[in-house]
Amino acid sequence: MVNVLFAAGAKRWPDYAEALPEAFAKAGLNVDLARDHAPETVDYIVTSPNGDVQDYRPYTACKLVQNIWAGVENITDNPTLTQPLARMVDPGLTQGMVEWVTGHALRHHLGMDLHIHGQDGVWRDFVPPLAWDRPVTVLGLGALGAACATTLAGLGFPVRGWARSAKDIDGVETFAGPGGLSQSLDKAQIVILLLPLTDATRHIMNTERLALLAPDAVILNPGRGSLIDNDALLGALDEHLGHATLDVFDTEPLPPEHPFWAHPKVTVTPHIASETRPRTAATVIAENIRRGEAGAPFRHLVDRSSGY
Ligand code: NDP
Repeated sequence: MVNVLFAAGAKRWPDYAEALPEAFAKAGLNVDLARDHAPETVDYIVTSPNGDVQDYRPYTACKLVQNIWAGVENITDNPTLTQPLARMVDPGLTQGMVEWVTGHALRHHLGMDLHIHGQDGVWRDFVPPLAWDRPVTVLGLGALGAACATTLAGLGFPVRGWARSAKDIDGVETFAGPGGLSQSLDKAQIVILLLPLTDATRHIMNTERLALLAPDAVILNPGRGSLIDNDALLGALDEHLGHATLDVFDTEPLPPEHPFWAHPKVTVTPHIASETRPRTAATVIAENIRRGEAGAPFRHLVDRSSGY
């Protein structure tokens, strides 16, 4: 019997209490899933950064802490968490992100706002360029960024992408490492931020990087708020940027008095770009536990030295 502690909170428990047992059974695992195992008896913890367990020291037999979020910056900084930590890579989460990014990219590409807000009798017969004339750049080519880049390339956009290591993604021109960042951003018209928040990526979109973008460029940020220097962004919106659609913020919920809410060139979405889906995530969790029990390496382990 494998003891799995579900520590990702009462709100999420009903969905996972339904999805996980099914996935464990399919993986051939005999699991006692509960929210209240005695710490020293726990083999695996399924949790989120704001979950029920904040002191991991009593979980002396725990082989893996499986985060149900893709972002790990608020859990890697917990000094009591010394067990292996896996982040979530979930097909449902990826699909949701592809839909959000594609929808918001097409909104700006097609100039939809002009007609949604322009039902006033004025015939605005502006014809937008085709996708192949609209260069898009995706910063971060991991589980989410690569899927978004591939989908946008499939729609015909010329897509450039940037990551830490070299990538080979069909239809996407890729750049790697600090030297490749400027080349990937140069004259981009739509930029999508899907980097994790680490010491190396904080405020990566600063005044200098924003100045590389094409006039009227649009930024979509479903990554993390602190990837952007907010003062630099507000300055660039005053000067040459066309729009910023932001899903994530330094402080969440974004305070009502924050200038982003009222800014005519900013769209705020409340950290809903995508979310882990219990049904598909349960299969991912079960597979990692199956691996742990079989002595196989875990998938999607967080590298503490790089912070993601
Ligand atoms: P991954 O870890 O799979 O991918 C991260 C990508 O960023 C990788 O390609 C990595 O490069 C690249 N990267 C990391 N650091 C650097 C750096 N210093 N320089 C260049 N590239 C770098 O993460 P996911 O795709 O799963 O998720 C990305 C982020 O999206 C999450 O960290 C989270 O913050 C955010 N997110 C937001 C959600 C929302 O609803 N708004 C929902 C889910 C996630 P390499 O491939 O070489 O390692």
